[in-house]
Amino acid sequence: RAHMARGLPKQKPIAGVKEVIVVASGKGGVGKSTTAVNLALGLTANDQVMKNHLQFSILIKRLLQFIFMSFISSVFMLSQSKQVGILDADVYGPSVPKLMNLRGNPELTDNNLMRPLTNFGIPCMSMGFLVEDTAPIVWRGLMVMSAIEKLLRQVDWGLLDYLIVDMPPGTGDVQLSITQNIPIAGAVIVSTPQDIALLDARRGAEMFRKVNVPVLGLVQNMSVFQCPQCNHQTHIFGSDGARELARTLGVEVLGDIPLHLNIREKSDKGQPVVVSSPDSPEAEAYRRVASAV
Ligand code: ADP
Repeated sequence: RAHMARGLPKQKPIAGVKEVIVVASGKGGVGKSTTAVNLALGLTANDQVMKNHLQFSILIKRLLQFIFMSFISSVFMLSQSKQVGILDADVYGPSVPKLMNLRGNPELTDNNLMRPLTNFGIPCMSMGFLVEDTAPIVWRGLMVMSAIEKLLRQVDWGLLDYLIVDMPPGTGDVQLSITQNIPIAGAVIVSTPQDIALLDARRGAEMFRKVNVPVLGLVQNMSVFQCPQCNHQTHIFGSDGARELARTLGVEVLGDIPLHLNIREKSDKGQPVVVSSPDSPEAEAYRRVASAV
């Protein structure tokens, strides 16, 4: 469905990037960045398997000198792998460096573009790489716009199938200018089932519609807490709010992510669950979102 996007005339694609998917939320703290990172990793999860196959086929090629067959199979596998990058456009509170366990200053290429920092096979760019960790980000509107422009246009992504953009929360100037500058294949909106978060999610969905960005669907985060001791399930933020909102807006629910200690702990350590606990139900929940996108 992401292929259905149509760009506005003044939009310019990001060099090397096939499709941009933005991850947005009406308000902060609902799990937007955590979802963006695990979604990106979920989209490459199959890719990892393909790479292992590819390495295996290279080994066979060396061992058996079966050059022709290897070449064919490598080409076949390469054509199926997905390259994914993450752009942290949350310039006020960049969290991708911590979530992806990355720090440092991006190098410049010969063309004076910034080279993204890479972990878990995912190239990432964030304002967090360009400012000191503890420096308060107090910017006037114009400075924010030029920072966003830098992040959108001055990064050497190489070739990407998907660029996942972690948007700033809310529906202000920054969000609007991103949607007007680049063609966006679709928006994923993250919300908790709680009324207030849902209200803001609705504003977000309506903003994307106004600027002709297809809303791919809602991710309902922190929908259920399962006690690790007794397995009792509690709907701390309500149960089905996002489903009702999705129905009202006529969009899909792409998935339900449980409120889980493992998600919080691994995120804080820069070890997103999709890579650190790939067999857990919470990783599976993120992978389901990735396959629904
Ligand atoms: P946002 O980007 O919306 O501000 P974050 O992704 O930074 O939100 O998440 C806010 C906090 O909630 C983080 O500490 C994160 O680890 C935690 N968190 C997010 N989703 C979950 C979840 N499903 N279960 C447990 N903790 C979560």
